[in-house]
Amino acid sequence: MKGDHAVAANASVAVRLNALQQEILVGIALGDSLENVLTTFCLGVEALAPGAICSIAGVEDERLTFIAGPSLSESYTCQLAGIRIGPKVGSRGTAIYLRRAVEVRDIESDPLWTPYKPLVQPYGLQACWSCPIESLDGRVLGAFAFYFREKRGVSPFERMIAGECVKFCAMAIENAEARTRLNNLAFFDPLTGLGNRVTLKNRLGLVLQRARELQRAVAVYHVDISEFRAINDLHGRVVGDMALVKVAHLLSDVASDSDLIVRLGGDEFIVVKTVLSDGFDTEQFADAIVSRLRGRYRVERGDEFAIDVRVGLAHFPEHGEDEDELLEHAEMALICAKQNGGGYAIFERRIELEQRRRRALERDIGLAVEREQLAVVFQPQADAQSGIIGAFEVLLRWNHPEHGPIPPGQFIPAAEANGAIHDIGHFVLRQACYEAAQWGDKLRIAVNVSPAQIVKSDFVQIVSDVLSETGLEPWRLEIEVTESLFIQDFAAAQTTLRLLKRLGVTVAIDDFGTGYSSLSTLRNFPFDRLKVDRSFVSDMINNAGAAAIVTSVIGLGRAMGLRVVAEGVESQEQLTMLRLLGCDEIQGYLFGKPLPAEHYAHIMGTQVVFNGICEERPATL
Ligand code: C2E
Ligand code: CA
Ligand code: CA
Repeated sequence: MKGDHAVAANASVAVRLNALQQEILVGIALGDSLENVLTTFCLGVEALAPGAICSIAGVEDERLTFIAGPSLSESYTCQLAGIRIGPKVGSRGTAIYLRRAVEVRDIESDPLWTPYKPLVQPYGLQACWSCPIESLDGRVLGAFAFYFREKRGVSPFERMIAGECVKFCAMAIENAEARTRLNNLAFFDPLTGLGNRVTLKNRLGLVLQRARELQRAVAVYHVDISEFRAINDLHGRVVGDMALVKVAHLLSDVASDSDLIVRLGGDEFIVVKTVLSDGFDTEQFADAIVSRLRGRYRVERGDEFAIDVRVGLAHFPEHGEDEDELLEHAEMALICAKQNGGGYAIFERRIELEQRRRRALERDIGLAVEREQLAVVFQPQADAQSGIIGAFEVLLRWNHPEHGPIPPGQFIPAAEANGAIHDIGHFVLRQACYEAAQWGDKLRIAVNVSPAQIVKSDFVQIVSDVLSETGLEPWRLEIEVTESLFIQDFAAAQTTLRLLKRLGVTVAIDDFGTGYSSLSTLRNFPFDRLKVDRSFVSDMINNAGAAAIVTSVIGLGRAMGLRVVAEGVESQEQLTMLRLLGCDEIQGYLFGKPLPAEHYAHIMGTQVVFNGICEERPATL
């Protein structure tokens, strides 16, 4: 009879245990919180094992965390969290540390509990048995514990229940960890650990709501790393990633704990200064970001990279009422900072108008070729000594139907930004070659080409097709490129230029002296001509610095066997000085403005020598 009872009791325990396990699984499957799942579980276990108080702790960074223990006093469980695990840290800290069950029959006298017994004594807890909770791959996830209100050990029955239950606890904890990881992926940038765009959206809305309630200001900073692509291209992605992590650290350094920092993606970050105190200088903080981040950094392998940033700043409520408007305006300010070359810029309504205009310009320039609004003009280049015109530079003109003529300095960047430059470039090249093919057979034509065109893989083919289409001999075509080409895609640029040279086309470096890397660029590319930038020429008479630059650039070009062309020559004085310095060719209003081909028809038909080049300009020009 007694045996039957035992069997029945065991059967009922098994059923209840099974029901409890099912309940945990359902909780996990429904996405209930870990705390809820394990609290229900503890209550279930306590119902099965009367007299035992069940509790579950987790472990994080080698410290205990409290997960569940509904029958323990909250003031005790609060103190438990954060205790570092070790070989003599109560029952749980020790069980986790030693990875085995630890039994303390008398908390009062057991040395494991010496420092901790004051924590439990007020609650009448006298003994504690604990075993580690391990994952399938052997990681210790936490500890299961039975507390008792009397001095005693764990019974075989209780031990059996614990044994049946810990694997379910492990499942629940691992599932919660996986959910946190997924959550982190959705809300955090895995590289820098900062929040991402989603976090920004969620948090900025709350920040603004609070600022509205408190009638305070908020400042949004859009931070962008300058020339980040160059870091990636020159040093590789690993160093690029390190640079991003560095920037994230430095931003966390300058910002305070209450500020929100997120990585928007790529090399862009947002810092939100929340709820500003009166008198906080938002511009000074923008400046602080720039100066804290700017610098040279070395990575372990010895690679060194430079970081510089631009910052756009917008204020709430002055520059935007809601998060979308604020972020958009901070970005507009950033674009302005990039254009002005300053460290930071603060949003102004003027910036918005300018950028609207720019967008409208981008839209319109995209249609300009098919609407036949574009035309090319020609500006002569003459030999500095003989005055013989050897070439014409082709310059593009756009007559906007509403706004009239728009300078290329404005519409070329717009066309580069929206990709229209490829069609436009093709148009210019065809017009130029077609025109030049009609001229006397010694005149050359120089065509400006944007970096985006050069690095596109079909550029050499396009040039070659246009040459055969128009019948122009390749040596009569010169491509003008600027130094900025080489910071985009060094390898692609180098390949294209070499292929162009192989076709027989010549290559000039334009605006020389205004960009970067002058000497190394010159050495690495097979240029034929070097064009001294107009800004140096126009200043050379009155500014010793500009004169020194012109002198050294001419010397440099000649030393490298290149022909040197001075642009923007307007006066006789400039011409005289350039001739003395040994400049080879001259281009500028002194010889002729950029004009439609018919104005130069008399020159284009034959070779013309300017009479008395040093004295006066030809009457016809
Ligand atoms: P750039 O290639 O440096 O062209 C020389 C610029 O200086 C031209 O301005 C020309 O009109 C101007 N200029 C020439 N001589 C003098 C002078 O004696 N005095 C003064 N004050 N100015 C002079 P423009 O036509 O406004 O072109 C500006 C820039 O636009 C060009 O600079 C070039 O970078 C770009 N560009 C023009 N046409 C094209 C094109 O077809 N394709 C591309 N990609 N860029 C072009
Ligand atoms: Ca040019
Ligand atoms: Ca130029």
